[in-house]
Amino acid sequence: MVTPLLTTTLDATRSAVAAARARGQRVGFVPTMGALHAGHLSLIRRARAECGFVVVSIFVNPTQFGPHEDLARYPRPFEKDLAACTAEAVDLIFNPTAEVVYPPFFKTFVEVTGLQNVLCGATRPGHFRGVATVVLKLFNIVQPDVAYFGQKDAQQARILIQMVRDLHLSVEMVLCPIVREADGLALSSRNVYLSTEQRQQAPVLFQCLRMIQERIAAGDRLTEPLVQLARARIWETPGARLDYAAIVDFERLEPIDVLSGKVLIALAVFFGATRLIDNILVDVSPA
Ligand code: AMP
Repeated sequence: MVTPLLTTTLDATRSAVAAARARGQRVGFVPTMGALHAGHLSLIRRARAECGFVVVSIFVNPTQFGPHEDLARYPRPFEKDLAACTAEAVDLIFNPTAEVVYPPFFKTFVEVTGLQNVLCGATRPGHFRGVATVVLKLFNIVQPDVAYFGQKDAQQARILIQMVRDLHLSVEMVLCPIVREADGLALSSRNVYLSTEQRQQAPVLFQCLRMIQERIAAGDRLTEPLVQLARARIWETPGARLDYAAIVDFERLEPIDVLSGKVLIALAVFFGATRLIDNILVDVSPA
């Protein structure tokens, strides 16, 4: 196995990618914050299958964390991540410092208005501004042909697709399915924060989503009773505190009364200080 090339600067990253492109290779990019798990690896494998040159960025982006969030304690198991990238035959890991990405006197941010302040954005002000800004920066540094994102962060993916469209970026965006534990819990780098009891209760998010999905399959089309089902289920779960349960149109991320078209069913639930998210996307035909 060949260890991936490791870069920390813009110049080194750009010249490695330029060399790949000069060889005629399609450049695939998977942005991550590290602490890689099977969810990340599914994106990397898809990139590996579709591209000649695979770039993974590992960067815990400070601008997407709120002042009371977990920036300082976010897991950073770099050696383990390096081994995982080596095993997946990644070509290049871009692992910059915060000073490289945000040099002194940095002044420019990207805002995807309308989509950034709802759902997770309502609880995490400024989060998606930080995400859009860093992803645009990473796109400008890596200049990929195609970038891979997980449906796990559905609002993030929707916002980034909008950014690419609105700013005329020539990156193809690929959305990959959510990878889950056997009991349904969506894999997340934050699952390590859960206590044994919290971990036992955590699959309740997916259980709520499945419950709603079954009701839709049975013909339910009104959203409010379905949202109430999820609220009640979280309410009765020990240690769980609902942040939001929402059923929205996936294009606009706006609540809808009656289900139709491409619909996002999304949940955010606190277990102590740990906030878990999960969702399903459903294409709803008229009942
Ligand atoms: P993060 O390191 O949390 O910024 O995530 C990097 C990428 O991995 C994002 O596009 C996430 O949506 C994706 N991702 C995280 N968890 C999962 C999962 N369980 N299944 C699929 N993709 C995921």
